[in-house]
Amino acid sequence: MTELTRLPAAELSDLLAEREVSSVEVVRAHLDRIAAVDGAVHAFLHVSDAALAAAAAVDAARGDGAALGPLAGVPVAIKDVLCTHDMPSTAGSRILEGWVPPYDATPVARMRAAGLVPLGKTNMDEFAMGSSTEHSAYGPTRNPWDLDRIPGGSGGGSAAAVAALEAPLALGSDTGGSIRQPGAVTGTVGVKPTYGGVSRYGAIALASSLDQVGPVARTVLDAALLHDVIGGHDPKDSTSLPDAWPSFADAAREGAGADSLRGVRIGVVRELDSAGFQAGVTQRFHEALELLVAAGAEIVEVSAPHFEYAVAAYYVILPAEASSNLAKFDSVRFGLRVTPPGGGTVEQVMAATRELGFGPEVKRRVILGTYALSAGYYDAYYGSAQQVRTLIQRDFAAAFAQADVLVSPAAPTTAFRIGEKVDDPLAMYLNDVTTIPANLAGVPGMALPMGLAPEDGLPTGFQLMAPAREDARLYRIGATLERLLGERHGAILDRAPALA
Ligand code: GLN
Repeated sequence: MTELTRLPAAELSDLLAEREVSSVEVVRAHLDRIAAVDGAVHAFLHVSDAALAAAAAVDAARGDGAALGPLAGVPVAIKDVLCTHDMPSTAGSRILEGWVPPYDATPVARMRAAGLVPLGKTNMDEFAMGSSTEHSAYGPTRNPWDLDRIPGGSGGGSAAAVAALEAPLALGSDTGGSIRQPGAVTGTVGVKPTYGGVSRYGAIALASSLDQVGPVARTVLDAALLHDVIGGHDPKDSTSLPDAWPSFADAAREGAGADSLRGVRIGVVRELDSAGFQAGVTQRFHEALELLVAAGAEIVEVSAPHFEYAVAAYYVILPAEASSNLAKFDSVRFGLRVTPPGGGTVEQVMAATRELGFGPEVKRRVILGTYALSAGYYDAYYGSAQQVRTLIQRDFAAAFAQADVLVSPAAPTTAFRIGEKVDDPLAMYLNDVTTIPANLAGVPGMALPMGLAPEDGLPTGFQLMAPAREDARLYRIGATLERLLGERHGAILDRAPALA
């Protein structure tokens, strides 16, 4: 039965529909896998005690002949940034330790309604600030490819859970790369949808104008199946797009079956194909481009001159929004309350709580953001960063006039060692140089595995970006590329050595 943990969600779904296997069996196999390996990986902050009962309910509904969605009975892991009414939701922070929200985030509610079975909550950098999961208040998650290395961040827990075969699917959130960069360094597929494509209701906010919830999986089709479940308009999120979305699973199946990419223009972003990247990452990226050319695609070089300023603009806009969003953790409404010895005023209780409840990276960003928004500096910092954001959006518009999708490596290096960058914020921030532009412009992006780097044998990721609302294009072209890469490299996850 442990073989069940190797199957993609789409295959589990077929077996469940044909009643070759029950959801209870599938869920139990994954809970057993978690029990066996999560002591080493630490992908989970909380494992659900309701998963088997939820699986049994799906099995019973199927037995009664209920019409079930394609992922009914398939287990899923949930990044701890998403509110769940039956499990703690900490966002990786001490300040929310043990907090159980009174409601489910919309993507979680939609998964439950579709019969997916939540396995538990996954580890993350505190409030999704980081690229390594080392900023979690609950200790780091380890990369299943090498337990001494980081699984990326902030959603390292979701990516590691999927890479370690603890879950076939997971939810993540991506504000500057937190789905795609962990995907790149763990050999998983991750998608940041178009801004507004998936509801943010019940996602603990980092930077509201950048945050998007999205799927984490081992195949492009699996990511599409999950995106179909969680996406679409939600009146509870005022930024949710009213669009009717096509089936992303259909797009992925179409792409997987396509034998030619003739007529597809692939835009290589000159500024994201940099000499500063790890040699093996650049090599695998150029090999992937050759596969696309051999399949008939046309490569066009595009320039996005303002991408150079994306990281700088992001690290003004994000802290500004985060400082405002995190003001609600005031010791009165949520979670932790620390009273100074001998008591204190409301302000003193608030200060003591935030002093103990927030880690150093959160404090750094709250201070930065508060400064950037303060009277007298607002125009110089926040105002300028917003202008740069507009220039980046124009770069995208110009590039998409020349190309159907834009491509780059999904991360500049393979997974680095735990401890290597944790004390160097700038080195940490530069991990998202290729992913941040998409968040600033609101366009969708996908990371998918493009083979192992020759120098260290670790996964590398390919990034595809499409114009806003064209997420289906990512799934179509992504699935074709995935097939071509699979023919070349084989199924790389089968070779994850740490947990074989
Ligand atoms: N690593 C980036 C940051 O620290 C991205 C975070 C995210 O996407 N949540 O802000």
